[in-house]
Amino acid sequence: MTETATKREIRPGKLFIGGEWREPAGGGSYETLNPATGQPLTVIAEASERDVDEAVRAARQAFEAGPWAEMSAADRAKILWRIADLIDQHNEELGTLETLDNGKPIFESCQVDMPMVAEVFRYYAGWATKIQGETVPVRGPFLHYTLREPLGVVGAIVPWNFPLLLASWKVAPALAAGNTVVLKPAPWTPLTALRLAELAQEAGLPAGALNVLTGSTRELGRAMVTHKGIDKIAFTGSTATGQEILRNSAETLKQVTLELGGKSPNIVFADADLEAAARGATTGIFYGKGEVCAAGSRLFVERKIHDEFMEKLIARTAKVRPGDPLHPKTRLGPLVSEPQMKKVLGYIEKGTSEGAKIVAGGKRAEFGDGKGYFVEPTVFDGVRNDMMIAREEIFGPVLATIPFDDVEDVVRQANDNPYGLAAAVWTRDIGKAHRVARRLQAGTVWINTYNNYDPAAAFGGYKMSGFGRELSGHAMEHYTQVKSVWVNLKE
Ligand code: NAD
Repeated sequence: MTETATKREIRPGKLFIGGEWREPAGGGSYETLNPATGQPLTVIAEASERDVDEAVRAARQAFEAGPWAEMSAADRAKILWRIADLIDQHNEELGTLETLDNGKPIFESCQVDMPMVAEVFRYYAGWATKIQGETVPVRGPFLHYTLREPLGVVGAIVPWNFPLLLASWKVAPALAAGNTVVLKPAPWTPLTALRLAELAQEAGLPAGALNVLTGSTRELGRAMVTHKGIDKIAFTGSTATGQEILRNSAETLKQVTLELGGKSPNIVFADADLEAAARGATTGIFYGKGEVCAAGSRLFVERKIHDEFMEKLIARTAKVRPGDPLHPKTRLGPLVSEPQMKKVLGYIEKGTSEGAKIVAGGKRAEFGDGKGYFVEPTVFDGVRNDMMIAREEIFGPVLATIPFDDVEDVVRQANDNPYGLAAAVWTRDIGKAHRVARRLQAGTVWINTYNNYDPAAAFGGYKMSGFGRELSGHAMEHYTQVKSVWVNLKE
């Protein structure tokens, strides 16, 4: 996409409420930056509590009466399918917006994120007509059946690492079930959510069914979580924020699903295909600049292949070089913001001071005029599982390598962490692979692969990585509720 075309797509933000673009009630705005250059990108509307009220009112109205409330499931499905087609048709534009906001390589935005966003809408278009109740053989002269009904207004709060993708994981199943949505993108990556609102309207989504609020503060999310008119919060973000959301939603007893952080173990046994495992280990941590909740950030390597494996890993890491994220060949973009870069560099320092050894990277990466937030792909060796760089989520391109001796040792170490989002096992021994998969405390386990996602495959956390499942039919349970209906059949 040319520079001019790119500029044209970035408009000063407004809020999308009740099918209209509105100025925020308080009139405020804030500036976002392009993480590749550190330069201002655009101006975004600053929503306040009053805007939350307005968005919730619009969503409530659309849920209770009018075209959306009366629409058949089959017609909802058609709209979701049309949204998917429009996302495909605007792949380059949406991908460019995502890259400008987040810094992720355009290859990832256009070839991975946006196609999956479209697939998620198509997948849930299929679900709209398959949400159904059951008849139940109760005692006595009664007919008993269940209705599976939408919850009402869903507040979707998403992070900045996969802005539109993680929004689609919530918006698509919510709408498929007949809910309405107030979507809040992360402060620094709002552009694709705003564009989604327009595309959804073009696809025929009635006013109020999807509303988008932008803002730079935590107050906006808090106002949604405490709002009486929101029935459910679907959240993806950090564990600390998830805990706060759970506390704040107690007053209004909201339904909550939480997709939180991770510190996922990637386990390489000596009998693995080591070339494939080295590839999986590098993409497992460096894809998405390591700003991936399921990043394979703890690499467990069986001690007897340690040296041979590290050689392969370091050689592959050397090929992951920073570049202009808008260039199609770039595979490593800048981190999303300066604070995120500083946080990651701080962890690198901490790792060194804890006694781990840097065997690749370790610094802010040189690129262009040096103003972008690039960090070198970094590999630590000789890490202990109790070091801070092995326990805490760094959310950057930093890998902690930990040696292990046998299955017992690695299962114990892998599970010895508060998080439980994902894990991977690399081995040619199929029995061992499945045995270890069962013993790992993680919501997703990959065997001889890493980072696979599909709209039909459930995703979510064990332990401090959250609860509820996104994607798949399981997500539908979190966007519907069951009503029990009794009918007296006595003559
Ligand atoms: P974050 O928790 O700071 O923010 C996430 C979202 O919540 C943002 O939109 C933010 O504005 C909003 N928010 C912040 N405080 C809030 C509050 N008190 N109440 C309501 N909303 C609030 O997370 P982040 O830094 O944007 O994202 C990174 C985190 O997200 C990482 O921990 C990562 O692991 C996690 N993540 C998890 C998954 C998953 O599926 N499990 C996927 C991607 C990212």
